[in-house]
Amino acid sequence: MPSCIFCEIVARRRPAEVEYEDDEVLAFRDIYPKAPIHLLIIPKRHIESVMTLDPQDAPLVGRLVLTAKRIGEEKGLAERGYRLAIHCGPDGGQLVYHIHLHFTAGRREAHRVERR
Ligand code: AMP
Ligand code: ZN
Repeated sequence: MPSCIFCEIVARRRPAEVEYEDDEVLAFRDIYPKAPIHLLIIPKRHIESVMTLDPQDAPLVGRLVLTAKRIGEEKGLAERGYRLAIHCGPDGGQLVYHIHLHFTAGRREAHRVERR
């Protein structure tokens, strides 16, 4: 497999500010934060994108979302809230092809379609 920067972070060959880890999931700070709090929640196993998910990945996808819930609670955001986003493929603005959930918080988010 060609080298993947998020697999490199999982393997600790590339530095990251890790905020949560378990046997299947890692959460670390986005290197270019777009909000006061901006984490990326990833499966440790390499999955390219939503488009390459298999039906048997459903529990793992659930764990990504439940990790977001846990982080939200730990950061005291369960009331104010946060945004979860997954960029999917070229027209979804996906840049890193290791599936990841963006967790952003710390300001009121407007509903909008972002363009690069
Ligand atoms: P996207 O694929 O559009 O969801 O964007 C990938 C995200 O990964 C961007 O928000 C980048 O700032 C972030 N990113 C890229 N490389 C790193 C890295 N080495 N450590 C942390 N975040 C990264
Ligand atoms: Zn990877």
